[in-house]
Amino acid sequence: MLQGLMMDRPLLVSGILEHAARAYPESTVVSANAAGERSRYTFREIHARVHQLAHALIRLGVKPGDRVGTIAFNSNRHLELYYALAGIGAVCHTINPRLFPEQISWIANHAEDSILFFDTVLTAQVATLAPSLAKGTRFVAMADGPLPSDAPEGTLDYETLIAAEKDSGLFDWPEFSENTACALCYTSGTTGNPKGVLYSHRSQILHALSKMLALLKMFGSDKRILAVVPLFHVNAWGLPYSCFLTGTSMVLPGSRLDGASVFGLMDDEGVTTNFGVPTVWGMLMEEIRKQGRKPATLEHGLIGGAALTMPLLKAMEEFGIRAVQGWGMTETSPVSTTTTADIINGPANANPRKLRQGVPTWTTELKLVDENGKRLPHDGVSRGDLLIRCPYVTSGYYNDAKGTAAAFDEEGWFRTGDVSVIHPTGEMEIVDRSKDLIKSGGEWISSLELESAALSCPGVTAAAAIAVFHPKWSERPLLCVVKAAGAEVSADDVRTSIASRMAKWQVPEDVVFIDALPMTATGKISKLTLRERFKDFYASA
Ligand code: ADP
Repeated sequence: MLQGLMMDRPLLVSGILEHAARAYPESTVVSANAAGERSRYTFREIHARVHQLAHALIRLGVKPGDRVGTIAFNSNRHLELYYALAGIGAVCHTINPRLFPEQISWIANHAEDSILFFDTVLTAQVATLAPSLAKGTRFVAMADGPLPSDAPEGTLDYETLIAAEKDSGLFDWPEFSENTACALCYTSGTTGNPKGVLYSHRSQILHALSKMLALLKMFGSDKRILAVVPLFHVNAWGLPYSCFLTGTSMVLPGSRLDGASVFGLMDDEGVTTNFGVPTVWGMLMEEIRKQGRKPATLEHGLIGGAALTMPLLKAMEEFGIRAVQGWGMTETSPVSTTTTADIINGPANANPRKLRQGVPTWTTELKLVDENGKRLPHDGVSRGDLLIRCPYVTSGYYNDAKGTAAAFDEEGWFRTGDVSVIHPTGEMEIVDRSKDLIKSGGEWISSLELESAALSCPGVTAAAAIAVFHPKWSERPLLCVVKAAGAEVSADDVRTSIASRMAKWQVPEDVVFIDALPMTATGKISKLTLRERFKDFYASA
């Protein structure tokens, strides 16, 4: 092959920050804290703060390749960590604060995080976790005022650390391969222990670019995006990078995600697009209905993490908000399919094609297979397991050979655990899920964990958890339980057993007692039969 004669410059995240400060110095990052107060920084100021933070990280002893944990909501400080850690060649490991404490410490210990940066609203949680973390783990509080008194001993203060670097000058970003790791996020959307997805500079940049190509009208220095999607979850669907690449101002809501707070933030800050899961959109639409109007400048809404439903679509259209659906996974960076522009910007007539998950983003390839791995046609009818291949799809979980081995087919494609059809138009549509999990309000609940927690309740002989459609949470778990003959066991007894082992929001509201679990021909519990039997459980409640 004849090689091109072009400069071989690496695609690095530090390059995005430098570009943003040069090209869009006046674009802004607005952050709301838990008290509802807002801070405002221009990209020029964020750039300066990131350089100070990079010096501070080096002074704390962070080395290239080190994993540094964050346990925080969306704020400018969290965003600054993304850039400073990637810039020095370290890894920003975002941890989901909604997970059960044992899961969080498992994740932090598996990643071997050397430092944990945390939001002060999460101090009590971090203090509880601290004894279960590796000895020598250091803590930094991202505080607006004095350090909370219950913070772990020796906790440092973020603002003090960066203020000390005010006169250190610009950081000299190192150059390294674009395949170097820069971010880490564990998914609990799999069976077994959480699995780490380790993103590279190259994958983050390609993902940000290809997402922007699909969503051209949402980005630009005249746009302002609210990131309701958390920075702790799959890099807030790539927003930190795509906003800085295009000069799109960012609005970060902190921990307050109720309809009224989100509405107020959008209205005051001139937000043009919001990215979020259907549950948050539902709460926002309730507020919009209450006020009888949408936030003044809101044009688009990106919905992902769970399916857009017809009632939500109709509500958005009624108020003149263009709905865009995206599908993806932690393992796919995540945005891998989106609604096409002609459909997004076409008539607001409840077009059912808007409920499809959309066409692949640039570089994404999708394949459908039957139970024997044989390819199925993209005819809009054949249903099969969905597999994906792309430069921003994981090639293997972090330090998890067993998890990795199960995740790919023999051609190296990643198994999504979603069941889909692909239409001749190229649109993918999810019709079911083969992974035995429940996704409630954008967060995962393991059926297996629910079942084993239920079995720990005296008097329960068999249990099966299924996902049932819920109008607010997209899905809620429904636990079907079989009692031992003559046993006196109530739904509350079962719920109490589960609550002692799992997070409160994971405990099913409803437990139904049935005579026997339906079985498949091969002797497995037939969840399909249960799902069919209870499909309208909440819808008809
Ligand atoms: P995210 O929440 O960012 O989508 P996760 O890895 O937590 O990432 O979850 C991915 C899974 O969520 C997908 O495999 C699919 O089951 C579900 N999902 C994501 N987006 C959609 C969507 N638009 N419609 C239906 N299901 C979706």
